[in-house]
Order: sequence, then structure tokens, then C-alpha cells
Amino acid sequence: MLNYHMAREDMVELLEEKGIKDQLVLAAMREVKRHQFVPPNLRARAYEDKALSIGHGQTISQPFIVAQMTELLQLTGKETVLEIGTGTGYQTVILSKLAKQIYTVERIKPLALESELRFHDMGVKNVIQKVGDGSLGWERFAPFDRIIITAGAPSIPSRLVTQLSEDGRMVIPTGPRRVQDLKLVIKHEGDAESSSHGGCVFVPLIGNGGWEDDE
Ligand code: SAM
Repeated sequence: MLNYHMAREDMVELLEEKGIKDQLVLAAMREVKRHQFVPPNLRARAYEDKALSIGHGQTISQPFIVAQMTELLQLTGKETVLEIGTGTGYQTVILSKLAKQIYTVERIKPLALESELRFHDMGVKNVIQKVGDGSLGWERFAPFDRIIITAGAPSIPSRLVTQLSEDGRMVIPTGPRRVQDLKLVIKHEGDAESSSHGGCVFVPLIGNGGWEDDE
């Protein structure tokens, strides 16, 4: 039987080799058991640096991109974070270890129900979740110190920039539907400055601030 602990250590070593430096991010990736988030038939592959299918046409993101996006957020433990695209909840649990309060939105109800069970079983207490279109944010709890979008958007939704705190950071993959550029947006004196952090491939952000469902 696969030794998940050893496999996770190897995965974290690879993340370091690929350039992840933030020791807190690496510690969280070492702690959170990715095999508990993937379907049983894919557990043996849980620590490969690959996105894996989670059903409903969706994926659990590649560990490197989870680590890279988390590192770009520069979390100190004090932040409120909005995550759009809960998926399995793997990224959510990583965030929950590094920030104060996480708000997460998923549009596919069965995925949200599964992640809710996981949060409960894992004793995660600082996550508030809802089912719905998160592409326009979550006005009720705004502003957020950090926003992370784990699905590809055509462009940066201005409503999300509005819901970002002053000096807040947002990471979002943007670009054509099949391949995107990972963007970091920093809000300063009301203006949003964005920088590019490499190519990536995400499932589409579907909704008012994203793509249409049937494209
Ligand atoms: N980070 C997740 C994880 O660790 O499992 C993987 C996220 S998966 C790549 C992207 C998720 O975004 C999918 O579950 C998809 O249903 C969701 N999604 C797409 N558009 C959305 C929207 N407008 N609002 C909320 N969730 C959305």
C-alpha cells in the first residue's frame, strides 16, 4: 500500500525544487492530506503534481498551482479571504491554516456538500461556505483582504476589485477559455495593479463575471 506520508513529503520537496519558498505554505502543503480530497479510485495518484478529475467536469488543482497561488497571497494569519471555486475544499483547507477567516463559494451543489462534510470531519472551523455564482464576489462579507479565484476568467471582474480591501491582493487566472495567465492584482489607493505569473490551465469560471455555461 502507498505510504501517503512519504508521498506527501516527496510532493513538497518537488514544490520547493519548482520554486515555492514560503515555509508556511510548504508546511501547510505538508500537513493537509490531499488523498482525502480525491475520489477513491485516484488516491494512489493524490501526490502527483497533477490536476485530477473530481467529477462534474471539474478538477482538484495541481499542487504546484495551489502552492503558487497561496504564496502570491502573502498570508500572515490575520486576513479574511474570499475563495471562488471551493471544488473539493483542498485549497480552502490550506488557506484555513494560513489566514483568519475563509469565505468560499462553489456553484455545483454536490461538490459544496462534499466539501462541507470534509471541513466538518477535519475540524475546520474558520470556513464559511455557500452555493452560488461567486464570480461577482460575496458582497455581504466584503471587503476581503485577499481574493483567490480557482477557475479561469475571461478578464478581471471589476466587482471583485471593488470587494478587495485597500492594499489587498487577489490571484486570478485570466485569458482564453482553454489556457490562462495567472494574475496577481494589488489594490493601492483605489487602483488595481496587475502582474503576470505564468501560464496555467483552469476549468472555466462560469457566471455573470465569467463565461457562459454553454460555451
Ligand atoms: N481549488 C479547488 C480544489 O482544491 O479542489 C479546485 C477548484 S476547480 C479547479 C474550480 C471550481 O470552480 C469548480 O469546482 C467549479 O465548479 C467552480 N466554479 C466555476 N465557476 C464558479 C462560480 N462562478 N462560482 C463558484 N464556483 C465556480
